[in-house]
Amino acid sequence: MIKIEEYMDIKDYSTLKIGGQFRYFAVISNKEELPSFYAIAYDERKYKNIPIFVLGGGSNIVFSDGVLKVITLKIEIKSFEIINETSEYIDIKVGAGENWDNFVRKTVNMNLVGIEALSFIPGTVGASPVQNIGAYGSEVKDTIQEVEVFDIEKREFSKIYNKDCKFGYRDSIFKNEAKGRYIITAVTYRLNKSLPTIPKYPGVAKYFEDMEIVSPTLSQIRDAIIYIRKEKLPDPRVSPNAGSFFKNPIVLNAVADKIKIDFPEAKFFPVDENHIKVPAGWLIENSGLKGKSFGSVSVYDKNALVLVNTANATFEDIIKTRNEIIKIVKDKFDIELQQEPEIL
Ligand SMILES: Cc1cc2nc3c(=O)[nH]c(=O)nc-3n(C[C@H](O)[C@H](O)[C@H](O)COP(=O)(O)OP(=O)(O)OC[C@H]3O[C@@H](n4cnc5c(N)ncnc54)[C@H](O)[C@@H]3O)c2cc1C
Repeated sequence: MIKIEEYMDIKDYSTLKIGGQFRYFAVISNKEELPSFYAIAYDERKYKNIPIFVLGGGSNIVFSDGVLKVITLKIEIKSFEIINETSEYIDIKVGAGENWDNFVRKTVNMNLVGIEALSFIPGTVGASPVQNIGAYGSEVKDTIQEVEVFDIEKREFSKIYNKDCKFGYRDSIFKNEAKGRYIITAVTYRLNKSLPTIPKYPGVAKYFEDMEIVSPTLSQIRDAIIYIRKEKLPDPRVSPNAGSFFKNPIVLNAVADKIKIDFPEAKFFPVDENHIKVPAGWLIENSGLKGKSFGSVSVYDKNALVLVNTANATFEDIIKTRNEIIKIVKDKFDIELQQEPEIL
């Protein structure tokens, strides 16, 4: 029987260390408890009309202050199961509550190729399909076979295949039309027994050039990614943050061409014939904001894409800083940045 607690402090569940209290809070460690949880949450008068919010590691959310009128369901479902193996690949089904990076480490130790460039991303396995986590030219969508869910409408378990997840850049069905409909209980990944290749990303290529390594092992690739990430991203336990605070805008080529007049050296990334991806961090840095402090919130001095809560910032402090950054970048480059983490 799941215990539903009341008035739970949020800060400990948020890597940004911001937020008031969850009105109700429950932990689920066994998926078989979901039907009875929903029966209670939907049918008991006390909880009527209170939305359920699904929480993983709280690393991609900005929580509001005050009492949030939700029943937060923290997913701690753990499992790791090889469900299929050929001479070329292995399919592994992993519980949604597993720590993402523990899972990556395990697969690297098993010499399986596919998610090594996604090493050291905070959060849970269950959240990995939600925003199609990505880093260093790799996206998790390229390894996901299927997502096991509890369908809240039908109150039954089902599977969503990769092609039906509508994966895009930091996007999926779970953030859009299916938001609130499913609890992800497990994800199945297909990982390869092939030889690893260096992730196609300038910083990673340079790391191996400097090390004079032409054909790195999987472990060396993981170590490189962790090294590079530690240089660029603050540890949330020391400097509370939610990772990249803004999405990299995809703009028409003409918009980028205009910027290049003043910044001929700038490196942007073509998306298709007409569009190009402009790093949000570059825009913020070249608006003169890298390392700038906005009271209790700062733009990280080694990576302008990250906002750090430096002194017990409130939700309002974060939103004010975000709006100010968006305005300054818009005035300078005529590009409107969009926030990456969700707001609750
Ligand atoms: C320092 C740092 C670095 C980061 N680097 C990267 C990066 O390189 N690439 C990247 O893509 N992201 C990055 N992130 C963002 C974040 O780590 C990922 O988005 C991660 O997948 C979030 O996992 P989580 O478990 O913390 O999810 P949460 O923040 O708890 O939840 C995120 C969303 O997923 C939903 N959700 C979570 N679990 C489930 C579930 N089981 N079923 C249904 N919905 C669920 C939540 O309701 C919410 O909408 C970074 C964050 C930090 C703090």
